[in-house]
Amino acid sequence: MSGFDPRAAADESLALVAAEASVEDQQIDTALRPRKLEDFVGQRVVREQLTLVLEAAKARGSAPDHVLLSGPPGLGKTTLAMIVAHELGAPLRVTSGPAIQHAGDLAAVLSSLSPGEVLFLDEIHRMARPAEEMLYVAMEDFRVDVIVGKGPGATAIPLELPPFTLVGATTRAGMLPGPLRDRFGFTGHLDFYDPAELEQVLRRSATLLKVDLSPEAGAEIAGRSRGTPRIANRLLRRVRDWAQVRGDGTLDLAAARAALKVYAVDERGLDRLDRSVLEALCKRFGGGPVGLSTLAVAVGEEAETVETVAEPFLVREGLLGRTPRGRVATPDTWLHLGLTAPPGFSWGGGSAGFGSGAVVGGATTPRLGAIQEPLPEFGD
Ligand code: ADP
Repeated sequence: MSGFDPRAAADESLALVAAEASVEDQQIDTALRPRKLEDFVGQRVVREQLTLVLEAAKARGSAPDHVLLSGPPGLGKTTLAMIVAHELGAPLRVTSGPAIQHAGDLAAVLSSLSPGEVLFLDEIHRMARPAEEMLYVAMEDFRVDVIVGKGPGATAIPLELPPFTLVGATTRAGMLPGPLRDRFGFTGHLDFYDPAELEQVLRRSATLLKVDLSPEAGAEIAGRSRGTPRIANRLLRRVRDWAQVRGDGTLDLAAARAALKVYAVDERGLDRLDRSVLEALCKRFGGGPVGLSTLAVAVGEEAETVETVAEPFLVREGLLGRTPRGRVATPDTWLHLGLTAPPGFSWGGGSAGFGSGAVVGGATTPRLGAIQEPLPEFGD
């Protein structure tokens, strides 16, 4: 037996359901990206609105309004930026907030744009402040003020820019300063995809990768992809690997299940870390409330890893509640782990968005035996 090492595969699962792009993803992403708006799956509202913005600009023969795309990683922001350039028949320049640490970095990019070019600025919320101010003027007046000299003798020399379209992308729209947000004529928010849309993404990717994906396998992979096309495409590649090495090359339901078992991605897309957090919460702390740092120690991880890597998805899925008193299991948590809540278990995480005072097990008495921590470490 050679090939798969189940432990290495399970470690891999920690990265398998991450929504951020790995180096491998970046290469494959390029091959799988739809190039036209009509091939872009889902996000009906954003797609329709963007179609109008682009068609109208094309009809007027002018650059469209600047576009801001917000939403979690892996949902298609970069893809849409590329589509905008493609639909306009314009060249695309790509940069990102972290690459712009000084106003001069931005001035260099802006001053070298050609007329009508689309400038994609990923992670725009991470750009340096002085550059943000330069961007306001560039977006509104197509001008940058280049400062020459220092101190009282410094002068600003205005430099005219050709009309361009900025497509900004952010996972943290709330972190953008108001004046910057206001300068975008169009803002689109991308939401998680539903399973049927992910199946469509998978069908398309399977065709491009020239693999034979059965509808049942597509549905199975879609259900484990956390609403995120990037994860769906990544799981598809892992199932393809399995089918090549262990199976007969066909991606059917059995292959999908077997492959995702090896990589420890369960029916709802939870990976090893997610499940150990939930298991610790239920088995060791009776369903909570338990403080984040205690929970992190119990699973042998940093509190930050648990909070930023595992929790957002678990909370979104209703598998974990955050309350002022700590993390709590929900009725779904017990069900998903195949465990029974102890008699008298109650959950009432108001701040987690659950109805307070909901009860599991027929009584409303608070949980016993849970290790609790003071409030300060609870934060989001
Ligand atoms: P983001 O920039 O939001 O992190 P990307 O645009 O890089 O996400 O998308 C990640 C991958 O997911 C891309 O390779 C693309 O193939 C796929 N993808 C994303 N959205 C869609 C979609 N609506 N239809 C088809 N594929 C998509």
